[in-house]
Amino acid sequence: MNLPAQLTAVPGTDSLYLWEPEGTGLWGYANCLWVISGPDAAVIDTPYDGPMTEAMIAAARPLLGNRTVGTVVNTHANGDHTFGNYLFPGAEIIATRAGHEHLHHEPTPQEMHALVHQSPPEAPLGRYLRDHFSVFDFASAQLAAPTLTFSGRHTFSVGEVEVELHEVGPAHHVGDLVVRISDVVCTGDVFFHGDHPSHWAGPLQNVIDACELVLALDPRVVIPGHGRPTDQAGLEEHLVYLRTVQREIRLRFEAGLTAEKAMEDLSSRAFYSHLGLPERLMILIAVEYSHLSGDSSAPTVLSLAGQAALWSYR
Ligand SMILES: [Zn+2]
Repeated sequence: MNLPAQLTAVPGTDSLYLWEPEGTGLWGYANCLWVISGPDAAVIDTPYDGPMTEAMIAAARPLLGNRTVGTVVNTHANGDHTFGNYLFPGAEIIATRAGHEHLHHEPTPQEMHALVHQSPPEAPLGRYLRDHFSVFDFASAQLAAPTLTFSGRHTFSVGEVEVELHEVGPAHHVGDLVVRISDVVCTGDVFFHGDHPSHWAGPLQNVIDACELVLALDPRVVIPGHGRPTDQAGLEEHLVYLRTVQREIRLRFEAGLTAEKAMEDLSSRAFYSHLGLPERLMILIAVEYSHLSGDSSAPTVLSLAGQAALWSYR
C-alpha cells in the first residue's frame, strides 16, 4: 500500500488540499479533500480503514496545526468513503438522508472483515475479495454514522470557505451527493477517472444526470471519487463513455441477450480496454438490466460482486 505522505494543494485555491492515493485499477482507494480555513477544518470522505485514515491525518498535520476537524462529509455510504469517520471524534458527519437510511444495507467494517477472511477461498467471490480487499484492516475500524442528514441541498462554512452539498442520488449509490467549493467540485463516485466504474443503484441515466449537474456547476477542477483530478473536458470524456455503455447495454437487452451474454459480447469487442477493472462492466450490466426489466428489487452488492468476481477469473 503506497499512501501519500503529504496533502497536495488544489491549484488555484488557498484552502483546499487533496489526499490522493494511487487508486487506478484497484478497489477502495478514494480521494479525500481537506478544507482548511481560519480556525476550522473539514474533510470530504474518509479512507477505508483505520491505518489509512491515521496516515491521512498524519499527512494533514503540518497544514492542520492545532485545528481539529469539525465537519466530515460522506459523499455516499460505501465503506471506502466512510469507515475512517470514527477517527474524527466530535465532528459533525454530514450525509444525505437517503444515504443514511440505506446504511443498514451496507456491510459494517466487521462484516467486511468476515466477508474477506471467511468467504470460501475456492469460490470466485471469496478469491476476489481476498485478492482485492485483504490489504485493508477492516477489523480496526468502527462505524460512525452521520450526525446531520439533508435532502436536496445543504450549505455550511469552514472558516472563510462556503461548502455546497448537492444531492444527486440515486446514481452510483442511493444517497450520492456532490460537493462544490467555489470552482472546485468533488463528484464522489458518480465519476471514476481511469477505471470502469461500479454503480450499484442507477439507472445509468441518473449517473449521467449527476455528471451533467456537475458540469452545470461550471467547475474549473473536477475531483473524482477515484482517480486523478481533471477538468470539465475530462468529465465530458467520461460522459461519452457512460452514454456509450448505456446504449450498448440497452441494445443487447432489447436483442434478448442475457446479462452474461451481453458481458461476453462487450468483452469480446475489447470495450474501452484501456480502463481498469473491466469486470465491473458486469455490475453495470446487471444493475441496468434490472432497471430495464422493471425489476423493483435491485440486486444486492454481494450478488453483484459475485458476478463480477466470476467474470474476472474466466
Ligand atoms: Zn468509492
